[in-house]
Amino acid sequence: MNILNYKSEAECAINNPVLQKALANLQERIGKGTAQGYRELPEGPELRLKAHAIRMRSIENLDILLIALADGIRKNGGHIHFAYDGKTALKHCLEIARKHNVKLAVKGKSMLTEEIGLNHALNDAGIETVETDLGEYIIQLAGEKPSHIIAPAIHKTKEQIGRLFQDKLGIAYTDDPPALTRAARKALREKFLQADMGISGCNLACAETGHITTVSNEGNIRMATTLPKVHVAFMGMERVTADLKDHEILFRLLAMGAAAQKMAGYVSYIGGPARSGQTDGPEAFHLIVIDNGRSRILADTDFREMLCCIRCGGCLNVCPVYGKIGGHSYGYAYSGPVGAVVNPLLMGINRASDLCLGESLCGACMEACPVNIDIPRMLLLLRAKLAQGDKTWDVKVKSRVEQVSFAAWSCLIQSRPLYDLFLKTAYHGQKLLPRNNKMISRLPFAGKGWTQSRDLQPLAEQSFISRFKDNFAEKQND
Ligand code: SF4
Repeated sequence: MNILNYKSEAECAINNPVLQKALANLQERIGKGTAQGYRELPEGPELRLKAHAIRMRSIENLDILLIALADGIRKNGGHIHFAYDGKTALKHCLEIARKHNVKLAVKGKSMLTEEIGLNHALNDAGIETVETDLGEYIIQLAGEKPSHIIAPAIHKTKEQIGRLFQDKLGIAYTDDPPALTRAARKALREKFLQADMGISGCNLACAETGHITTVSNEGNIRMATTLPKVHVAFMGMERVTADLKDHEILFRLLAMGAAAQKMAGYVSYIGGPARSGQTDGPEAFHLIVIDNGRSRILADTDFREMLCCIRCGGCLNVCPVYGKIGGHSYGYAYSGPVGAVVNPLLMGINRASDLCLGESLCGACMEACPVNIDIPRMLLLLRAKLAQGDKTWDVKVKSRVEQVSFAAWSCLIQSRPLYDLFLKTAYHGQKLLPRNNKMISRLPFAGKGWTQSRDLQPLAEQSFISRFKDNFAEKQND
C-alpha cells in the first residue's frame, strides 16, 4: 500500500507558480552549469567513470574499510558507534547528550539526520536543536521539510523569508537577501556560542587516516563542530573510502554536481576531539555509523550501485519530473531521481511505489550524476518488481488487473490472426466512445488516465500491415 501523497502533492506543486519559477531557475542555473563544468574537466568525461569505480570499490570492501575507520577514529581519540537502524542511532545520540548534560544543540545540514528524525527525538528529549545552514534554518523556522537535498528552502521567495524573519526573529521586514542573511547570522551566532553539542553529517570518511569530512559553502559546519564541547557526527555506512587520494576526485565532482562549482567553500577534515594544547575543537567526538536498510541494498547486486551516491543533488537539478513537482511531493528525506530509487529501497517498495513509477526514464539524471550512477536501470528494476512481485524485497504485485492485462496483451501481439481480430473488434467498439473533433476524448476503465489531458487518435478502419499487403498485391498484379 502506497503511503505517500505523491500524486496530490505533485498536483499542488504543479499549480504553484512561485515554486515553478524557483525550480525552473534552479535547473537553468545549476543544472546547465554542472553540464558545462563536466565538459570543461581537464581529465574529460572519464573522471566520472573513475569516481564510479572508486565508489564501487569502497562499497565492495565496506566491511574492511569500516573496521579500519573505527580503528582510526579510536586512535584519534574519538568514539565510534554502529547503529543497525535509525532508532538505535537516536538512542546513541541521546545517551551522549545526557552524559554531557546537553540543553542546546547546533546542527550542520544532514539528510541522514532527516532520514532518522533526529530533530524530533532531540526536541522530545527537551534539547533545543537549531539548524545552522541558512536554508535549513529558514525551513526550520517555517516548520517545513527540505525540498531539495542541497538547497532545502528553494521553494521559498525572499518576500516569504522576509515575513518569516519578521515574525520569528522580530526584525523589521526586509526582502533584501544580504540583510536577511545578516539577521540569520546574528541569531545563529548566539546559538553557536551557547550550544553544548554540535551535530553534523559526514560527506565522506577516510579509512586510511580515521577522519570524517564535511563540506559546506557557509562555514557553519566548522562552527558547529568546533565551538560546542561535544561533536556528534552521523554517517551512512556507505560513505567511507579507502584513502585521501579518492577524496580529491570525489570532492571536486561533488561540488560540480551540487552547485556547478570547482570546489566547495569549506572542506573540513575532522579527526577526533581537540588534542592537548589545541585551542579549537570539542572535548569529545562521536561518530555514529548508520545502516538503516543499507546492508539490504548492499546485499543485492542489482541495487548495490545506489550506495555510490554522494548526495550531491545533481540529478534533481536536471530531472524534468523534479523540475515540475519539487521535493515535497516525494514525501521522505530524499527527493528527485535519487529519492525515487533510495526511498522505496529504504522504506519498502510497495509503500513508495509512486516514486519510481513517476519518473520519466529520460536518463538526464545519469548524465548529471558525478559518480555516473545508472538510476534509470534501477527505476526499471523497481517497476519490474512491482509488476511481478518479489519475495526478497517483500514486494506484492501492484495491480493484478494490470498483470493479467499485460499477459493477455503479450499473447495477442505474438499471434497475427488474434491481433487482426482484436484490431477489427476494437475498431467497431471504439464507435461507442465519446469524440472531440473526431478524436477519442475519453477511454473507459484503466485507460481513462491516458485521455485525462489529451485526446486519442482513433484506430483506422484498415491497419497499416493490411494496407501494405493490399498495395503490394496490387503492384504484383500490375
Ligand atoms: S544519484 Fe548521483 S546526482 Fe543524484 S544525488 Fe546521488 S550522486 Fe548526486
